Amino acid sequence: MSRFWSSLTYDLRPYVPGEQPRIADLVKLNTNENPLGPSPRVLEAIRGEATDALRLYPDPQATALRAALASYHQVQPEQVFVGNGSDEVLAHAFAALLKHDMPLLFPDITYSFYPVYCRLFGIAFEAVPLDAALNIRVADYLRPAGALIIPNPNAPTGVALSRAEIATLLAQHPDAPVVIDEAYVDFGAETAIPLVASHPNLLVVQTMSKSRALAGLRVGYAIGDADLIEALTRVKDSFNSYPLGRPAQAGAIASLQDEAWFQQSRARVIQGRERLNGGLVALGFDVLPSSANFVFARHPEHEGAALAAALRQRAVIVRHFSAARISGYLRITVGSDEQIDRLLSELSEILGNDRRVG
Ligand SMILES: *Cc1c(COP(=O)(O)O)cnc(C)c1O
Repeated sequence: MSRFWSSLTYDLRPYVPGEQPRIADLVKLNTNENPLGPSPRVLEAIRGEATDALRLYPDPQATALRAALASYHQVQPEQVFVGNGSDEVLAHAFAALLKHDMPLLFPDITYSFYPVYCRLFGIAFEAVPLDAALNIRVADYLRPAGALIIPNPNAPTGVALSRAEIATLLAQHPDAPVVIDEAYVDFGAETAIPLVASHPNLLVVQTMSKSRALAGLRVGYAIGDADLIEALTRVKDSFNSYPLGRPAQAGAIASLQDEAWFQQSRARVIQGRERLNGGLVALGFDVLPSSANFVFARHPEHEGAALAAALRQRAVIVRHFSAARISGYLRITVGSDEQIDRLLSELSEILGNDRRVG
């Protein structure tokens, strides 16, 4: 702490991102990056932007990208907001839509950025416990709320709600903004975007970081009623008018134009997930049913922290959370086939050879 800090800064409890270490031959399965990589057409589009035009500011409205997203998702451009990663889009949503007299509701085990934003923006919240199997129970949200935010699939469990369950949530709260964070939806869950037309209170947030393998480009977006999008734009234009640079706008458009690459990428991750799942179950792990590009798994005889540390010693990095209800679990990103094999063989050695672990 410094005497130069504002009281706001002093009270913050920042999100801790998964580490990005520089270790040779590291098997990095801790931040849900996509093993296949971006479409070659995206790289070409980005290279095409490396010109003298970088002198000039980008389009502050990202008009072409918003039009491309609108046509891809069959909505109007006024129903699309884009930002520097969906984390930024979410931050604007917290400021623009989620602060009310009544508390914001979200699951007790969820994306750990949500309480961080609440502190930053002074938003009262209530964490709604997952059930014993770590599922979101829609009926538990039947309580007074200023707003709701729910990731679907949930993080870090990977468990998804159906679109019908999201519709039930919306029916329970017709007068509260409801944000569905669909960072992982492309890996097997149902998007809520079709519900936008009939629900003026629904904002769906997606990202190009995971299913489009563009975490390094920082492109996220929201789809909702034009009135909600206007609120986000008001906050954005009070914060940073040019959140997406020229390379990001062009790369994101190119990604939407390479549907074959996208479909292949999703299919490869889903296949890998099923193989990872099978391998973990064979090693005695309990694995939650995942609709994401990671699995959440625990071993009945070994502590999560000890397993994560043993893997780390073998240059395999997974994510472990120390929160009470989930400290037994590891969140393991679905990597390439070789990475999955490496993880499984290291785990097999750890479990078989080192009885001291856990
Ligand atoms: C990864 C993730 C995001 C943020 O992704 P960006 O890279 O900022 O687009 C948002 N929500 C959840 C639940 C995530 O896991």
